[in-house]
Amino acid sequence: MPAPFRPALFPEGGRAIRQRVGAVSRDLGRGLCALLWPAACCACGSPTEPPGLCAHCLPGLCARPGPRCSICDDRLPVDAPAHRCGGCLERRPRYARAWGVFDYAGPAGDLIRAAKYGRQPAALDALSRALVAHWPPLLDCEPPSLVLPIPLHLRRLARRGHSPPLRLAAGLARPLGLKLARRRLRRVRDTPEQAGLDDKARRRNVRGAFVARRVAGHDILLVDDAMTTGATVDAAAAALLAGGAERVRVLCAARVERDGAR
Ligand SMILES: [Zn+2]
Ligand SMILES: [Zn+2]
Repeated sequence: MPAPFRPALFPEGGRAIRQRVGAVSRDLGRGLCALLWPAACCACGSPTEPPGLCAHCLPGLCARPGPRCSICDDRLPVDAPAHRCGGCLERRPRYARAWGVFDYAGPAGDLIRAAKYGRQPAALDALSRALVAHWPPLLDCEPPSLVLPIPLHLRRLARRGHSPPLRLAAGLARPLGLKLARRRLRRVRDTPEQAGLDDKARRRNVRGAFVARRVAGHDILLVDDAMTTGATVDAAAAALLAGGAERVRVLCAARVERDGAR
């Protein structure tokens, strides 16, 4: 006896349908949550829209005061005899100049931590808007020919789900009309986190971690979220110069002020 006819209610298969229904309900859920509970300010937790900082905390996002090293942007003592820090006098970094625009200890650090560890990548958009507003004047005179984000290793990218340096670099390059390249610098080694390591150990940790291609003759602006000793951006600059880049400058959204620099 032939099997009774059953209309194919779900020609795509139950699994595909479940996935689609799941995605739609997640979107609806997010929309409803945003309506009932607007995003919380990353610094003080009060409701704010769009995600990032509330009107009270936003003015705290101001450029670091001087005096600062004219190469690595580390803070110098007020009565420093030179324009360079001891580290740069001892061993000049491979990049020509770095800027660490905001203090990591302030709201900039709150935004970065919300994006990196709180799974709120949109918090970085507030930071890139502020970076555009505080664009270091030197870069204004000589815009780079390429903007490159510090790449994450694929394993870390998979764990985190997004790349903070890429989001910042894109948010910076778009309004300023600069060319963003995503794949010319690769991280070929999955290096352990730099936190807790001293300057030398950090440099060892990232040595040879980057490989560059199609950068010959370019004036490059490397973009990263946070900078402590600058070992990571220096290793990336070395790879870019080895690949023929003409000059590498570095823009980090936030700088971790080190003890003893006051
Ligand atoms: Zn706030
Ligand atoms: Zn320095």
